[in-house]
Amino acid sequence: MGETEDERTAKASQLFENFVQMSTCKGTLQAFSILCRQLELDPMDYSNFYSSLKTAVTSWKVKALWTKLDKRAQQKVYSQNKACQGTRCLIIGGGPCGLRTAIELALLGCKVVVIEKRDTFSRNNVLHLWPFTIEDLRGLGAKKFYGKFCAGSIDHISIRQLQLMLLKICLILGIEVHVNVEFLKLVEPPEEQTDDSPSWRADIQPSSHSVSDFDFDVVIGADGRKNTLDGFSRKEFRGKLAIAITANFVNRNTTAEAKVEEISGVAFIFNQKFFLELKEETGIDLENIVYYRDNTHYFVMTAKKQSLLDKGVIINDYVETERLLSSDNVNQEGLLSYAREAADFGTNYQLPSLDYAINHYGQPDVAMFDFTSMYASENAALIREKHGHQLLVALVGDSLLEPFWPMGTGCARGFLAAFDTAWMVKAFAQGKNSLEILSERESIYRLLPQTTNENINKNFDQYTIDPATRYPNLNSSHVRPHQVKVGLEGICPL
Ligand code: FAD
Repeated sequence: MGETEDERTAKASQLFENFVQMSTCKGTLQAFSILCRQLELDPMDYSNFYSSLKTAVTSWKVKALWTKLDKRAQQKVYSQNKACQGTRCLIIGGGPCGLRTAIELALLGCKVVVIEKRDTFSRNNVLHLWPFTIEDLRGLGAKKFYGKFCAGSIDHISIRQLQLMLLKICLILGIEVHVNVEFLKLVEPPEEQTDDSPSWRADIQPSSHSVSDFDFDVVIGADGRKNTLDGFSRKEFRGKLAIAITANFVNRNTTAEAKVEEISGVAFIFNQKFFLELKEETGIDLENIVYYRDNTHYFVMTAKKQSLLDKGVIINDYVETERLLSSDNVNQEGLLSYAREAADFGTNYQLPSLDYAINHYGQPDVAMFDFTSMYASENAALIREKHGHQLLVALVGDSLLEPFWPMGTGCARGFLAAFDTAWMVKAFAQGKNSLEILSERESIYRLLPQTTNENINKNFDQYTIDPATRYPNLNSSHVRPHQVKVGLEGICPL
């Protein structure tokens, strides 16, 4: 006997819930492929995938999610998912900013492929979210994927939870996401052009992966601070020596733990009394400290070098920071107790037990790193042209502009750049003049390092990829088309 209508609805709903509830990257991808197989949905049919999924999964539990996503997709700027019809995009990196960019490009109607070199989302570290990013994620159904998302006054999320929810939204919108695929370099279109000649492609690892046959018109570098795409020079902002320590402790979600007050970094920088007492009592000398209670108890602090030497965390004093913080010059046990002592003092000894959470490598989750220098790309985008094929190349996230973490700018500026980039892709897809596209993008990029939660538009519900909806003092022609040069390689800003 065949299935009844009700049985089919229940089965579809169950398969979808399994997918939504998955708590790992691999599990999500697996549950998604089972969902597609069982419901006979073709994930490669990117332009119809979302509507087919909606037709197949109709239970009341999922209605609110469809309503939210429909509302988003109906924004005029996407022209009913047709604004960029036929445009093919490759995104390098499945971090928060790569995935967020992918979503906008899919809503514009692009064919989007994301490649991510890892297959786990394992970063416990917690990101501070500006109010607009919370609104934005709520509008994409964040609560459906992570029930605890920004409940009450919470304004943060662990990197891995954020990646997980964005991955699920990407898959629902028909975006292809391939893990264990590493981008190596761009491959130019061949000189001999026939009707079926390849366009721009990517050299990837493993080379036999199907993505190596993907022809694209747009490539987005979202692979974090190391950015592997050629053609972008970087500016360095060098400050005084700054050593950061991150530490994650197990959160057992007890009442006692829930009562402990969080420490929001920006306000705390000014609390000198706290830091003096900390130094007097423990010998620990910090410039700032942040504490967020999330999946873990997450602490991030900037420590002064002398106190790390005094407490035996750093063994020998060297001028070169790389040598100073190299693993053979760091006493790991010393580092574990330093961070634990600071965390204990910072929370007024109220956290019952500070047991380290375990990181991706099976080790206690503590890390010490140098952030004396922060990098920003000189340009946000360039256009290359070879043998009749244009390629729009853009950077987003940490690849574009490294964040100053105590201010929690990473994710917020990352999302703003994701929207600005999608706006540029729309202009590119519509055949706008290349010099105008780049000069507009560079004009908007100049605003990014200055954006704060206070100086962006407060009408978050009006936000779209159109920069005018987000930046009150927008001057899109700050950089003029004649300031963008045409070089041998193509066109890039001066
Ligand atoms: P990433 O998260 O770095 O993602 C890049 C992805 O690309 C990774 O998944 C990587 O595996 C992949 N990748 C790399 N190379 C390749 C390749 N060749 N091929 C394929 N894939 C590749 N931000 C905040 O907003 N608030 C905070 O409070 C905050 N605190 C921070 C604290 C610390 C200690 C640090 C270090 C950062 C903090 N940040 C914070 C910054 C935040 O982590 C980043 O801004 C954010 O993760 C950037 O996202 P992204 O997508 O640009 O890059």
